[in-house]
Formats: sequence, structure tokens, C-alpha cells
Amino acid sequence: MEAKPIYLIAERRKGCVTQETYELLGFARAVGNGQMVIVILPGKDVLASAQEIAEKTGCETIALSGDHLEHYNGLAYAEVLMNFLRCKADGWVCLPHTSMGYDLAPRLAVQLGASCITAVDSAGDGWLRRPVYSGRFKEEIVPQTSLVVVTVLPGAFQAPAERSGSMGGVMVIEANEKKLPSTTVGIAESPRRDSSLKDAEVIVAGGRGIGKRENVALLEELAAAFPKSALGASRSACDLGWFQHKHQIGVTGQTVSPKLYIACGISGAFQHVSGIRGAQSIVAINTDPHAAIFQSAHYCIREDLVTFIPILIEELKRVS
Ligand SMILES: Cc1cc2nc3c(=O)[nH]c(=O)nc-3n(C[C@H](O)[C@H](O)[C@H](O)COP(=O)(O)OP(=O)(O)OC[C@H]3O[C@@H](n4cnc5c(N)ncnc54)[C@H](O)[C@@H]3O)c2cc1C
Repeated sequence: MEAKPIYLIAERRKGCVTQETYELLGFARAVGNGQMVIVILPGKDVLASAQEIAEKTGCETIALSGDHLEHYNGLAYAEVLMNFLRCKADGWVCLPHTSMGYDLAPRLAVQLGASCITAVDSAGDGWLRRPVYSGRFKEEIVPQTSLVVVTVLPGAFQAPAERSGSMGGVMVIEANEKKLPSTTVGIAESPRRDSSLKDAEVIVAGGRGIGKRENVALLEELAAAFPKSALGASRSACDLGWFQHKHQIGVTGQTVSPKLYIACGISGAFQHVSGIRGAQSIVAINTDPHAAIFQSAHYCIREDLVTFIPILIEELKRVS
């Protein structure tokens, strides 16, 4: 496939450029042949962030600036990005697979007449791969359009450690506000977040495989065997009411990076695994030898958690 320009759509959270933005550069390296990478950052008062991106990545960075872009709004962001991208006939348009990215990507793809490939976790020269069926299989896709919109799973590609070469140039384009059907006036952090998960060194997480609410006590007992520990959960286990939603880990929950993550009865859907890629060591307890979580785990325990966890707790007590 011939060299195509690569456009990365950067994202900020609480005024800071996200780690997922820098990981897009890892994706660009995987699909690219050394061609120019241009980073586009929509937002309000984004000059400093654009300079930070240009400094860290060495890429040309374009800030699309406007008061109406202060908070993410799909219609407003798609509008300003379309104004910039509309004349581009080919290339990659890459976004992080975050709530902004997977909202924005299809909007852009439809308007640009591009293909839209979401949740990509690996890529090579002209092909993309993504997890399907809760991560049990990988689907390989070769785009058939010259312009391709892609969302990249958080944690799937490494942000380059250091910039090689000089700082990229920065350009600010003032984006005109167009009357749109809706305006985002503010974003407030969910009170359902459990800050203890962020600081925990050990997280014991339960999924649907724990079987019933009463078995949460088993996980609590296991967590209590470690100092600085916390309880996590899959979305299914939260939806079943076994855990409060503040314990949910994954793309629509929290992203965690403990020293040790013990996944109990969790299948390992990519939406869950995306939230634990920062964990130093992952232990998975699951009865299914083909569970996708075993692909991410450092230690795989193929056991029934109801019989295994009490034995593990006893052993931990014995050695402590
Ligand atoms: C837009 C979107 C966003 C999402 N966001 C998230 C998210 O942020 N976080 C998240 O977690 N999910 C999220 N999901 C849901 C995700 O796709 C999966 O459905 C979910 O993670 C599955 O939860 P689970 O692993 O607990 O359940 P299951 O997939 O049902 O897996 C249960 C596992 O337990 C094992 N098991 C059963 N009994 C035992 C036993 N006795 N001992 C040991 N193992 C046992 C089974 O073998 C199985 O592997 C999202 C989905 C969508 C569509």
C-alpha cells in the first residue's frame, strides 16, 4: 500500500493531553512507512497543549481553536474536523478508542466517505486487527477505501519513549462557531468513581463467573489479605447488582494500574482488558481454558474460583 498521510486526532482530559493521544503515534508507526504525521487538536485555549504535543512528538500540530469546543460535543467537533479534513482524499484519520473517539469516528467516516474501523489493537502494512466476540477471536481487516478512519484501543500501542529530531511546528486555526442543535455546557466527573482503585497496589476483581452476590465476600476476604487493596468488577457483575458501578473497570469504567490484578471469573472482553493494561502482573482465575483473559494474564489458574480462592486465602495467611 502506498504511503498515506496520517492524521491523529488528539484528546485532552481535564486540560491535559491524554496518554491515549501519544499511543496513536505508536499506531502510526505500525501502519506507516515514515510518512508525515499531523496531529490535530480541537478545543478551547489549546495552544499550550498543542505546543506540548509538538515538543513531545516532533509532529506538525494543528490546534482547531474555538470557545464552542471547550467541552466535547460530537456535532461541533465533527464540524470543525470536517472543515479541515474535507479535501483529503486519502490517508489515515486516527482517534483513541475512548468515549470521544468512538462517538466521533463514525460521524467523520460517514461525512468523509471513508471506511470506519474501530477498536484496533494491532496493525501492519495495510492491515488492521481487532478483537471480536469478547476478545476470543481476532478479526483482520484490509480497508478498501483510500481514506480510513480508525479508533485505536487504549494500551494496545506504546507511545514512543522519546522524540527523535526537532520539535514539530504548531499552527492555530480559529474555528468558526456554527449554530448546532445542541451545545455541551459542562462535564462533571461521575460520583460513581472509586478513588481507592486508583491508589490500590492490589485489585481483586469479580466478574459474572463469581456466580452470585454472596461470593463477593470471598473476594473481599482475598483482597483483605493484601495491604493497599481494593475491589474491582466487570461491567456484567456491576449490571447484575453484585458490585456498585464505582468498582467497574474498563473502557466505560476506570483505568487502573496496580502492581497485582486478580481477575476472578472474568472472561476478558477487550472492553474490560483495556482498563487493566497498566497492571504490572495479572492473575486470572477461570474455569474456561479458552477464556480470553488468559491471553492477557501473566499467571493463568484454570480452577473454579469458589474452591480455589479459600485455598489461596489460607495459603496467604500461612505465609504472612
Ligand atoms: C460499549 C461497551 C462498553 C463496555 N464497557 C465495559 C467495561 O468498561 N468493563 C467491562 O468489564 N465490560 C464492559 N463491557 C462489557 C463486555 O463486553 C463484557 O460483556 C463483560 O466484560 C463481560 O463480563 P464478565 O467477564 O464478568 O462476564 P462473562 O463474559 O459472562 O464471563 C464470565 C467468566 O467467568 C468464568 N467462570 C464461570 N464460572 C466460573 C467459576 N466458578 N470459576 C472461575 N471462572 C468461572 C467463565 O468461564 C467466563 O469466562 C462493555 C460492552 C460494550 C458493548
